[in-house]
Amino acid sequence: MKALVMTGYKEFEVQDLPTPAVAAHDVLIRVQACGICGSDVHGMDGSTGRRRPPVVMGHEASGIVEHVGPDAVGYHSGDRVTFDSTIYNPSSFFSRRGMINLCDDRRVLGVSCEDYRQNGAFAELVSVPDHIVYRLPESMTYDQAALVEPVSIAVHARTLTPIEPGDTALVIGTGLIGLMMIQVLKQTAVERIIAVDIDDGKLAVAREMGATDAFNSKTTDATAEIKNVTSGRGADIAFEAVGIEPTVRLAIASVRKGATVTLIGNLAKELALPLQQVVTRQIRLQGTCASAGEYPECLDLISSGKVTVDRFISATGSLDEGASWFQRLYQQEPGLMKVVLKPNG
Ligand SMILES: [Zn+2]
Repeated sequence: MKALVMTGYKEFEVQDLPTPAVAAHDVLIRVQACGICGSDVHGMDGSTGRRRPPVVMGHEASGIVEHVGPDAVGYHSGDRVTFDSTIYNPSSFFSRRGMINLCDDRRVLGVSCEDYRQNGAFAELVSVPDHIVYRLPESMTYDQAALVEPVSIAVHARTLTPIEPGDTALVIGTGLIGLMMIQVLKQTAVERIIAVDIDDGKLAVAREMGATDAFNSKTTDATAEIKNVTSGRGADIAFEAVGIEPTVRLAIASVRKGATVTLIGNLAKELALPLQQVVTRQIRLQGTCASAGEYPECLDLISSGKVTVDRFISATGSLDEGASWFQRLYQQEPGLMKVVLKPNG
């Protein structure tokens, strides 16, 4: 089968690889669409240590079942499916407690790190265990299904955050995840959604997606603006979707006492924390990682039109065009959001 292999840092080659092995509980999927994730782009220069070459990346995918292992349950060849980005062991300590995303045996598709190498879906075929596979609603396209994973990040962040009717939510960073976050919050009892970014173009999209207020933190004092529209108190909850010190500080400074700040972004491995503010204002810092069983809800949100994904697909291309798309994303070409590769044309 053809696969887009990252042969060295920032180097790609389409190679002919053996068809993936199909274990007893596995489902072999002919990949129809696979999105290039920000984490793939950040990882391609080696800076994250989670894309060690050679590796076939790709964990945001959908396709058609080609073949199933003898013990795989619920799927037949020809089924239209998507799958979780993470392979977990259902009987592990954390999985049994519903935290499949924290499973110690967790392997993310398309990741190669110190502990494991798990080839992903920038390939004609990928093999995954049946318990991470989900059938697509009839109306959903393969391209849409390739964006279920980024939606699931937002849905999981929402799940972990206490939300009260009438709350004001703050979303910092209106890249793809922030824009998904705004749409997901729109479906909750939150009354006001404040978006913050340093790019006016992105803030305009944030408004289209349902943000009631949008502040540019480069050109205004965002914290003062936020306090202004929240009776001087600050937001009730905040979602930080960047992951660098200035934006984490901004989130902490812009919420009310007793608020929860949910941390999604993690560009910086470490940062200095305004500990005294967090402690004396009783702020709850809530980390969130991937998702834990929210895929069916995400498929519903997309197929019902409550969450829009189509407009974030900037381009589609073949595996052969993959290298150039990776370079363009790496160079942060303006206006490029999600690029979806189609390994089977
Ligand atoms: Zn991703």
